[in-house]
Amino acid sequence: MIENVVKGIRWIPGRDKFLPDSHVYVIGEPESHDLSLVDCGLMEMGSYKIEALESGGIDLNHVHRLILTHTHMDHIGCLAELLAVIPHAEVWVHEAEGAFLERGDSRIVFGNKMFESMLRTQYAVDENSFTFKVHRKLTGGEILMLGGVEIEVIHLPGHSCGSIGLHNRPNKLLMSGDTIYADGAIGRYDLYSADSGELKRSLEFLSKLDLDILLPCHNRIVRSGARPMVENTVRQWSPILGD
Ligand SMILES: [Zn+2]
Ligand SMILES: [Zn+2]
Repeated sequence: MIENVVKGIRWIPGRDKFLPDSHVYVIGEPESHDLSLVDCGLMEMGSYKIEALESGGIDLNHVHRLILTHTHMDHIGCLAELLAVIPHAEVWVHEAEGAFLERGDSRIVFGNKMFESMLRTQYAVDENSFTFKVHRKLTGGEILMLGGVEIEVIHLPGHSCGSIGLHNRPNKLLMSGDTIYADGAIGRYDLYSADSGELKRSLEFLSKLDLDILLPCHNRIVRSGARPMVENTVRQWSPILGD
């Protein structure tokens, strides 16, 4: 299934089972032939996303890059599956996590030892499963034109050190990764490279944005009126997150 959110931004919902699987967003106006995917999903969750792209009339030759909001397993687990089908696509990620991917350091991917042993048992994950070439390392502050859609990259450390948000100002739209969700939830801050004080600052930055549409990587999306919800969420969590 693939759904239009606004012109130039489409949504393939994740399929959570006992582990989460991130949503995928497709950026780019169809006639541009220049499409970007945002995030991939959990291990073994690549094929239905490819099917969703194809059934939505998307020519995979037009997918030029995979942008990762961060590199947790539920976002990057099927990156290799997608690259096997879209081998010409570039990988773009924040520089803080790009360095981990390039040297095959999977500590951020797994987040902690418990997840690591669980996932290594469950899936065919070997030592090199999370070594990738990163074609562009983002820093935050870039204003990109992606297939006719303006996207500003915002560095949002806290949930992980290289988490980013993608802000489309003309539509007051934010792809928030795992930093903030709908329904009052925020990203966890107990995994490797997380920092609650940084998460607090990232959330406070987001609460000042003029937002209408919130596209998190899990659960419900918000198609209008996102700002008061974001402000409430941040107000409730800030005292808990400390400095
Ligand atoms: Zn995450
Ligand atoms: Zn996630």
